Amino acid sequence: MNFQKIRLGAGLYFVATPIGTARDITLRALDVLASADMIAAEDTRSLRKLMEIHGVPLAGRRIQAYHDHSGVGARNRIMDALEQGMSVAYASEAGMPLIADPGYDLGRQAAEEGHLVTCAPGPSAAMMALTLAGLPTDAFFFAGFLPNSSGARKTKIEALREIPGTLIFYESPKRLAACLSDLSHVLGENRKAAICRELTKKFEEVRRATLGDLTAEYTGKSVKGEIVLLVDRGHSQSVNESEVDEALAKALETHSVRDAADLVSKMYDVPRRPIYQKALKLGKERNG
Ligand code: SAM
Repeated sequence: MNFQKIRLGAGLYFVATPIGTARDITLRALDVLASADMIAAEDTRSLRKLMEIHGVPLAGRRIQAYHDHSGVGARNRIMDALEQGMSVAYASEAGMPLIADPGYDLGRQAAEEGHLVTCAPGPSAAMMALTLAGLPTDAFFFAGFLPNSSGARKTKIEALREIPGTLIFYESPKRLAACLSDLSHVLGENRKAAICRELTKKFEEVRRATLGDLTAEYTGKSVKGEIVLLVDRGHSQSVNESEVDEALAKALETHSVRDAADLVSKMYDVPRRPIYQKALKLGKERNG
């Protein structure tokens, strides 16, 4: 038996569940699931199955379904239990609750009403991907899922352009190619990136390359499984502007405005749009 029944004080206990391999659950998470007075979950079936795998008995407890859109009824049942001094364990379907998953409203209300809110922490796809991506880990920004439509997605990516850290996205395999293409378009194809797929599972895979190369590789390719996409921060701050201007002027001697902008943005790993604007202006001055 891997768990112990422990005395849990009253409060809300967020419980992290595995993101693939069932044995990634922590011993403390099992203790909390075995011992809480009430259990609630985003997906009652998957939590029941996980408890079965680890031999944690329900012991007469019903798993209460809860996500942030369940309505006040479900939340009130949990709040009532906390009010009565009970311990409530809450797990999302996979990984850490609240991380692109429900639990935020519940935790906030429980804290506001003065209850203990704590967590049996564990795996999260974002943290595992960051560990494997080969991109800097000193600072990072978790951006969750990008919008579905290309226009809204590009606007969101544009807003993330200057973030001085590794960007972390969750992405569906169906949208991966379109998303890579938009990232490449807005941030420049030379930015380093990584695709972490099926983490902790049989077909775990990490691909590390530039956004341009990954876009070429995944366009038209069918991909399966769960994916975390990571992108390096921009390094444009360190580029000397007059150096870029000089390179652009030189490139315009032998190239069209469009080609000169492409060449220089690649050469200095800077976004293409401002370089194109500059090239357009320089081209006009040159011809006018
Ligand atoms: N709460 C979870 C966590 O802490 O990672 C995330 C839940 S979110 C609804 C599901 C998304 O997380 C998937 O679409 C995928 O982007 C990412 N994800 C979850 N498990 C994964 C895995 N094993 N490998 C890669 N990505 C995963």
